[in-house]
Formats: sequence, structure tokens, C-alpha cells
Amino acid sequence: MDFELTAEQAQIADTARKIGARFGLDYWLDHDRRKAYPKEIWQALCEAGLAGASLPEEHGGGGLGMLELALIIENVAAEGAGGTFAQVFMLNPIFGGVAIARYGNAAMKREWLPKLCAGQMYFCMGLTEPDAGTNTLEVRSFAAPDGNGWRLNGRKIWITGVPEADKMLVVARTKKIEEVQRKTDGLTMFMIDVKREGLTHAAIEKLGTNTLASSNVYFDNVRIEGSELIGTLHGGWNELLDVLNTERIVTTAGCVASGRLATRLAVEYAKERKVFRGTPIGAYQGIQFPLAQAHAELECARLMNYKAATLHDQGKPFGSEANTAKLIAAQAASTLIERAMQTMGGMGFARESHLERLYRDARLFKFAPVSEEMILNFIAQHDLGLPRSY
Ligand SMILES: Cc1cc2nc3c(=O)[nH]c(=O)nc-3n(C[C@H](O)[C@H](O)[C@H](O)COP(=O)(O)OP(=O)(O)OC[C@H]3O[C@@H](n4cnc5c(N)ncnc54)[C@H](O)[C@@H]3O)c2cc1C
Repeated sequence: MDFELTAEQAQIADTARKIGARFGLDYWLDHDRRKAYPKEIWQALCEAGLAGASLPEEHGGGGLGMLELALIIENVAAEGAGGTFAQVFMLNPIFGGVAIARYGNAAMKREWLPKLCAGQMYFCMGLTEPDAGTNTLEVRSFAAPDGNGWRLNGRKIWITGVPEADKMLVVARTKKIEEVQRKTDGLTMFMIDVKREGLTHAAIEKLGTNTLASSNVYFDNVRIEGSELIGTLHGGWNELLDVLNTERIVTTAGCVASGRLATRLAVEYAKERKVFRGTPIGAYQGIQFPLAQAHAELECARLMNYKAATLHDQGKPFGSEANTAKLIAAQAASTLIERAMQTMGGMGFARESHLERLYRDARLFKFAPVSEEMILNFIAQHDLGLPRSY
């Protein structure tokens, strides 16, 4: 067991941190206010070769692993973005990149992956449906055969990054749910154009993560070409899980970044702010202990995430570690942000303190992309061997 980063990993982390610092907190304050996609900082990461770090070298990526990707996200996002920037990594190198690199055809890999790595192509993923939230197997959007392709009808909800995306990874049924013996049968992934006849979308008003729109998406007889199939027709379930599993590591890295950022802001403030007798408020244990407690939890989650990423990169099972890390990271980050706000008193409530943005954004990661409850279900079943309760 070696807890040291290699020289290359340390350099990657440092490059990511410097890019994050170059854009800083005010960049995110401004983009959050304007509800603007953070394209400029994404472009900077692309130019530094970091956006596609975990994708194959032969298609423009860095040929590195999830550990390096986690380090990049954590370090770039801790300088100003917080957890929401991890979503941009989810959309592009994970939903776009992992899906194409592992299950796409040769033309997709050759033409789309280099554009993804260069920031010339953006992605989103349409999985969640109004009547199939956590229970993904209830997805009903249906792609019916149509010549050498399909016609897609149905609806998705909460789909992030649609207005800017060129391509959408769509999960649809290709066999009616009523006609299959196992619900895992008959699910298929496609990578389709967002700008296509019959596909419409409308952003949902929401609490936070303002830089990325989350939308209702409607498919009205949308044509899917035969060449847009990703992976195995009717057999996409396990392939989908393979794509989704890595998103936990990415989410945790974002939560670690949020927690680190909130801690830094709180500590800087608490060292300066004097309220009684010239003592900085940071000297009071009432201020210190809650921050220290959540910091300790976040550090454990960070280490567990590195373990999950390392196991992934070694081709070993990593589900328990990735789920555990995500559970604790989302909780510890939320607590740190809450306590940082308490530390700043009224200032924490002001937009310019940046905490109110982190506070709004962090709430998402307690139930998405996987909820606390579903992680506890996973741990109870897989790690403790208890019966499935649902
Ligand atoms: C801002 C935002 C962005 C998103 N982006 C995307 C995206 O880009 N693409 C996409 O496909 N989806 C996206 N989602 C959807 C997200 O993944 C889902 O919201 C999430 O999976 C939860 O599903 P749900 O909202 O339908 O909740 P539900 O499934 O309705 O669950 C509601 C509550 O019940 C609990 N619950 C359900 N079943 C059980 C059980 N068996 N045991 C215990 N508790 C249970 C859940 O944990 C949750 O707390 C996004 C959501 C949001 C809010």
C-alpha cells in the first residue's frame, strides 16, 4: 500500500489546480448568476490535455485512469467551482467518452472522441424518466424498428447540459417491458444528435447547479440511424451500468472539492474575524469542532475514493468503495458548507461569500446521481449480506 502520488500524478493535480485558480471564484459567481455553461474553463482543461485524461490516447485522450481523473476534478474544482464542475466531467468524458470508448463503433471513436477531448463536442445523457427515477428498469421510452434504424418516442426528465450538447446518450427500450421476462432485457443505448426533428427540451427551474440547465426532454418520432447504436441491441443494461459506475468516483471528487473549498473560505474568515475582546472567532471550539469533524470525514471519503479509482484502474470490482466514498463525501461536504456558513454569520448568506452557491449546489449530491438511500441499500445487501428490502 503506497499513499504517495507519482511525480506525474502530482504534476497533473498541480496543473488542474493552477487552471482552477486562474478562473477563480468570481468566474463561477458570474456563471452561476447568468446560468452560463462554464465553457471557457472546460476549454482550458481541453487545451492542457486534462479533459480527456482518462480516454484512450489513440483517440486524443491521455490514456490515464480514474485516479488521475479524480485528482484533476478535485483540484480544479476546489479553486472555485465546487461539486457542480464534476457534472461537466460526467457529461463529457464519462457519458460521452466512456460510452463511446467502450461500446461505440470505430467511426464514433475516430470522429467523436478527438472532438470531445478538444472541447469541440459536448454530450449529455438521457436516462431518468418521470415514472422511472431510481428504478431505472422502469424506463419506457421506446425505440421501434424503422428500416435500418429506429423511431424513438417517450420522455426524459432532469437531463443536464442539453442546450449545449451536440450528442445525447439515450437509454431506451427496444423490447416492450410487458413482453420481457426480465426487465434487464430489451434496454439499448444510442448516441443521437440533440438537434434533431422531433426532439424538444425545456429547462426546469431549480435550486442550484445553475451553470448547467436540467431539462425535460420529449421524443416525438425521433429518427435514430442504425449507426447510432451504442453497444448491444437489447443488451444495454450491463453496459449502461459500466458507464454509470465511474460517475460515482467523479461525483465524490466534486464533493471533496466543495468541502475543501468551503473549509478554506471558513478558515480564512475565522482567522480574521474578531467579535469579542479581539479574539478571532476561529479560536472558539464551537467554531472549530464541527469543521474539524466534517473535515475528518471528508478526508476519509477522499481516501476511499482513491481506493475505488485505483481498483477500477486495476480492473477489479470497485462498487463498494465507490458507493461508500460517495455517501460520506456528499454528507461531509454538505456539513462543511453548512458549518462554513455558520462560521461566517451574515456574510455567509451573501452571494459574494460564494458559500450560498456551494450550499445550493451541494444539496443535489445527496440524492443524485445516486441517492443516500440507494447506497445504503447497496451496502446492506452487498457488503453486509442482508436481504433486499424493496
Ligand atoms: C439537477 C439534476 C440533474 C440531473 N441530471 C441528470 C442527467 O443528466 N441525466 C439523467 O438521466 N438523470 C439526471 N438526474 C436525475 C437523477 O439521477 C434522479 O433525480 C435521481 O436518480 C433520483 O431519482 P428521482 O428524482 O426520480 O427520485 P425517486 O426515484 O422518485 O426517489 C425519491 C426518494 O425515494 C427514495 N427511494 C426510492 N426507492 C427507495 C428504496 N428502495 N429504498 C429507500 N429509499 C428509496 C430515494 O432515495 C429518494 O430519496 C438529475 C437530477 C437532478 C435533480
